[in-house]
Amino acid sequence: MTQDTYDVAVIGSGPAGYICALHCAEHGLKTVCIEKNASVGGTCLNVGCIPSKALLQSTEFYSQIATSAEKHGINLDNLRYDFPKMMARKNQIITEFNQGIRGLFKKHKVTLLEGAASFLTPTTLQIGGSQTITAHNTVIATGSQPITLPFLPFDEQKVLSSSGALSLKQPPKTMLVVGAGVIGVELASVYQRLGTQVTFIEFLDTICPTLDPAIRKELYKELTAQGMTFHLSSKVTSADIKDQVTLTAETPSGTQTFTADCALVSIGRKPTTSNLNLEALNISLDAQKRIPVNSSFQTLHPNIYAIGDIIDGPMLAHKGSEEAIAVADLIAGEKPTVDYLAVPNVVYTHPEVGTVGLTAEEAHAHNIEVNTATFPLRANSRARCMGEDNGFVKIIAEKDSHTIVGMHMIGAHASELISIGALAIKKRMTTKELARICFAHPTLSEAFKEVSFLI
Ligand SMILES: Cc1cc2nc3c(=O)[nH]c(=O)nc-3n(C[C@H](O)[C@H](O)[C@H](O)COP(=O)(O)OP(=O)(O)OC[C@H]3O[C@@H](n4cnc5c(N)ncnc54)[C@H](O)[C@@H]3O)c2cc1C
Repeated sequence: MTQDTYDVAVIGSGPAGYICALHCAEHGLKTVCIEKNASVGGTCLNVGCIPSKALLQSTEFYSQIATSAEKHGINLDNLRYDFPKMMARKNQIITEFNQGIRGLFKKHKVTLLEGAASFLTPTTLQIGGSQTITAHNTVIATGSQPITLPFLPFDEQKVLSSSGALSLKQPPKTMLVVGAGVIGVELASVYQRLGTQVTFIEFLDTICPTLDPAIRKELYKELTAQGMTFHLSSKVTSADIKDQVTLTAETPSGTQTFTADCALVSIGRKPTTSNLNLEALNISLDAQKRIPVNSSFQTLHPNIYAIGDIIDGPMLAHKGSEEAIAVADLIAGEKPTVDYLAVPNVVYTHPEVGTVGLTAEEAHAHNIEVNTATFPLRANSRARCMGEDNGFVKIIAEKDSHTIVGMHMIGAHASELISIGALAIKKRMTTKELARICFAHPTLSEAFKEVSFLI
């Protein structure tokens, strides 16, 4: 039995864990990262951000050609897609990033141990069945997993989690999607673009509830125009799984049944904490089953930290990575903070949505008096040239100081452009300061300047 001692042990190699391990090593700390899966990179690389965006890119490319090429004077006959090739491309990207992370670990001298870690004491971890290590500091970054419905367990053939939906052999003809949150609308977009008839059943009266109401409304309109069907305020109550999946739901017009080739269940994710033996540390979870931490990401044991999806806040890769860097700096004796107001959030549908900071409703809830303004993309010359002039940019600024507290965009390349908003909020810029930045013409980014003039 080996018993090595480390300055820092990081449990989990997702975007929170591996970034933390690398930054700890950069600080000169002897670091180990423990991962229970054969593949490093966590949910994000293996069954989340990266595979979904790879497939969204392929299908968006196909859909753009199918729907818009003719308008640009390009005629294509006999357009087809090769689904196994799309999947192979996606898998290749995962493999390459996987090797990339392993390469970075080697370069920065981070030890990678394969196996599930659990606590024996606050400074001792068991890894797999036989190995134990000692660590002066431990960072828990064990992430999250899809929530299932008791009467609809995942078989990844007919009843799919997001992971199963990223590995289908062929697009289904019909698909039910339970839950119209970000993951649901993104994965539904992949298949809808390839011809799948998509029907959503959503418990709430809106899709993507955390978005600005005007953005949500526009996204709903766009997705509906693309052919998706939404049953809102509808609760799935039972399931019958045979050759096809039949779901029964309580809807505003009474009990209804829906049948399709498969059902994707995307009703949220739950933190992965059950295999850590937290009982040995007397750490109890909060109401959402997350690990409670203080503003320095410490659990009730000052040398045990938690970051990423297992703690409070949005379940986003870059939010976990920010916390990862902060914890590495804290362990190294620095005093960093994470600016949560400046953490952007993106929905990779068509059109894309990018948001950062507060909505007007959130500002009011915090007793912040705000002004808002909206600039439509049909008034943006680049958007017109691209034939992508649906959507708008919305700005939220404090009434007296004119400090920007929220920026929201629905439209082409919103995922990239929202970084302008993140920068403005991080630097606590006023609308006047943003309005006086020179953006190249003609570009979509000019919409951020124009909207700042309007407020
Ligand atoms: C379909 C989908 C699309 C998404 N798209 C985006 C996106 O576009 N942008 C975005 O920001 N976020 C996106 N997310 C969310 C993002 O993937 C997560 O927020 C992010 O991966 C969380 O990072 P993490 O490091 O906290 O945890 P994870 O990435 O979940 O990594 C945790 C790791 O810990 C390991 N682990 C767990 N328990 C143990 C143990 N006891 N011992 C050892 N190892 C353990 C797990 O195997 C896993 O590898 C998406 C998620 C999904 C499902």
